[in-house]
Amino acid sequence: MLELPEAEVLRRDLEREVVGKRAKDVTVTTPSVLKPWHRTRKDFAAQLEGRRIATVRRRGNVMLLELDEGLTWLVDPGAQGSLHLETSTADPGADTHVAVAFATGGALHLSEAGREPTLRCGVVPSEEADDAAGVSRDALDLLADTPTWIEFGRYLLAGDEQLKLLLADPKRFLGLGPVYSDEILWEAGLRHDRLSSSLSPQEIRRLYRAAHEVLLAGMKASGSALDDAEPDTYTEDDGSVAGHLNVFGREGQPCPRCRTPIERTRLRRGLTSFHCPRCMG
Ligand SMILES: [Zn+2]
Repeated sequence: MLELPEAEVLRRDLEREVVGKRAKDVTVTTPSVLKPWHRTRKDFAAQLEGRRIATVRRRGNVMLLELDEGLTWLVDPGAQGSLHLETSTADPGADTHVAVAFATGGALHLSEAGREPTLRCGVVPSEEADDAAGVSRDALDLLADTPTWIEFGRYLLAGDEQLKLLLADPKRFLGLGPVYSDEILWEAGLRHDRLSSSLSPQEIRRLYRAAHEVLLAGMKASGSALDDAEPDTYTEDDGSVAGHLNVFGREGQPCPRCRTPIERTRLRRGLTSFHCPRCMG
């Protein structure tokens, strides 16, 4: 799943590359990705063709490409979906489910490997786009909502939940999955099972600062989101854990801060926490 840094890099890349472009030819090879918004490929194509992309917004990892005439093209990358730019004549290939060619050349391909893609896209009225995105309205997006540390602190104190469970809960924080929730807690030096209501003002500030540092570092490490058909920010080409990650996926390896081996703890809701048993209090 795209977490916040990769999603924001994708949004910025889309803004740079497709804003101002007009959809010309829409090709759908897997109609199921249009559910629940369109019953047929024809309906989707009729909604999108001829329309110009005005801006690109984001809620969590869902991209909202605002079109003219009060409509929004919603793209939810799902678990493994990716978007990439191609020439307008490029063969979509087996993993591409939707291809949209632009009037001025170039095309955007929506791809995901596997037989049952989880990515979704559809054209919806703009005023319904946030609801259609299926993300919680109340959840905080640390990059888009830019809370102050005091607002962030109030939000945490109201949560009264273990920090890892709170950060990784999509109803509370958008786009902080298993990877960045661990990284933020490590950076802040706070244990995954600390209750959010027990944090001191200093710890709240530390967590706030850590969240921003980690998310910005993640964005830097993401590079371009649109060039690579299957971007994977969490692993290097040789399969090892990406260099900008300090704890995630590094069980048994020395903590970069205190050299104690990183531990992995299984939490409820199928969540795992990678953490240092020594320098996170
Ligand atoms: Zn440590």
